[in-house]
Amino acid sequence: MKKMLHEELAVPGYERVVYLDDPSVGLKAIVSIHNTNLGPSCGGIRMLPYASKEEALKDVLALSKGMSYKSALAGIGFGGGKSVIIGDPTKKDPELFAAFGEFLEMFEGKYIAAKDMNISSDDLRMIKKRSRYVLGIDGEPGSSGDPSPVTARGILRGLEATVEEVFGKKSLKGLKVAIQGIGHVGFSLAQMIVQQGGQIWVSDIDQKALDRASKELGAHIVSNDAIYDVDCDVFSPCARGGTLNQQTIARFKCKAVVGCANNQLAEERDGLRLHERGILYAPDYAVNSGGIINIFVEYEGYDQRKAMTMADGIYDTMNEIYSRAKLAKTAPFLVTDKLAEERLYGRN
Ligand code: NAD
Repeated sequence: MKKMLHEELAVPGYERVVYLDDPSVGLKAIVSIHNTNLGPSCGGIRMLPYASKEEALKDVLALSKGMSYKSALAGIGFGGGKSVIIGDPTKKDPELFAAFGEFLEMFEGKYIAAKDMNISSDDLRMIKKRSRYVLGIDGEPGSSGDPSPVTARGILRGLEATVEEVFGKKSLKGLKVAIQGIGHVGFSLAQMIVQQGGQIWVSDIDQKALDRASKELGAHIVSNDAIYDVDCDVFSPCARGGTLNQQTIARFKCKAVVGCANNQLAEERDGLRLHERGILYAPDYAVNSGGIINIFVEYEGYDQRKAMTMADGIYDTMNEIYSRAKLAKTAPFLVTDKLAEERLYGRN
C-alpha cells in the first residue's frame, strides 16, 4: 500500500476522525468514526463539492453521530460512522475510488462503508477492489439489494405504534394517510396501508409515480402544495428533509407524522411546534432505520426475512419512546436521544 498523507483530527466525543489528502489522485476525504461500543461503525460515503474542509467536517461529524443514534435505536450491532469525499460527483475517477479504498483499509474494519449521496454501486465496486470494508453493492453475491421494502416495513411498524398511541386503535382500517413522495419507500408503505384498509392521498413531482399510485392503489392525487392541507389522520413525509416547518405545521390537519425522509424537522423548534399543536411526531431516525438494518443483516449473511423481523422491532422502540415521553410529560422527540444514549453508553 502506498503511503498516504493523513491527518488525525482530535474531536471530543468521537473515537477517530481522519482527513486524507492524496494529491496524486486528487482525493480529499474524511472518515468519521463516532462510536463503536455496539459494533463496527457503519454509514454511507457521501460525495459533494464542499466549499471547504471545515464544511465537509461539520457534515461528516453530524452524519456519523446520527448513525450511532440510528443504529442504537434499531437495536443492531453497528456503531456510527460516515465518510465524505470532497469532490465533484460528475467527475468520478477509478483511481480516486481505489485510493479511497486504501484509505478505508487503514481503519481495519472499524468503519464499514456503504452508499450515500452521489455514490453508486459501480463506485463501491471500484472501492472494493482495494478494501474489504464495503457493503450494499447491488448485484454482488450476498448483497442486501434495495433496502426500501425493509424501510417501508419499519415505517409501517412505527405507524402502527403511533396510531395505537394517538387513536387507541390496533388496526389501520379507515386510517387516512397523506404521503408526500410515492417513490421506493412511499409506494411500498402505501401498498401496505391500503392492504390494511387505510386510505391514501399522495403528492409527487413525478407524474408517472402518481399515475401508478392512482391506478394500482386507488390513491387520491393532490398537488405538491395541497398535501399539507389534506384532512387526514397521519402525514407521512417520504420525499425529502425539512418539510416540517413553521409554515407547513400551521396548515396540518393530521394528528401524527410518521415517514421515512431524513431530517424532517427544518429546525429543532419544529418538533415543539408539532407537540404544541397536539401532533405526535415519530422521530425520523427512530422509524427509518430499515436501510441500516438491511446492511447489518448483509454484514451477518443476508436473509430478507431476518431483516424484516428486525425492522418489526421498530414497533417496540416506538412504544418505549412514547411511554417515556408520557412519563416525562414531554414530546417524544425529546426523549429519543436519551434512549439512544443509554444504549450507547449505558444508563447513568
Ligand atoms: P425515491 O427517490 O425512490 O422516492 C422519493 C420520491 O419523492 C420520488 O418519487 C420523487 O419524485 C419524490 N419527490 C421528490 N421531491 C418531491 C417533492 N418536493 N414533493 C413531492 N415528492 C417529491 O426515494 P426513497 O428510497 O423512496 O426514499 C425516500 C426518502 O426516504 C429519501 O429522503 C431517503 O433519503 C429517505 N430514506 C430512504 C431509505 C430507503 O431505504 N430507501 C432509508 C432511510 C431514509
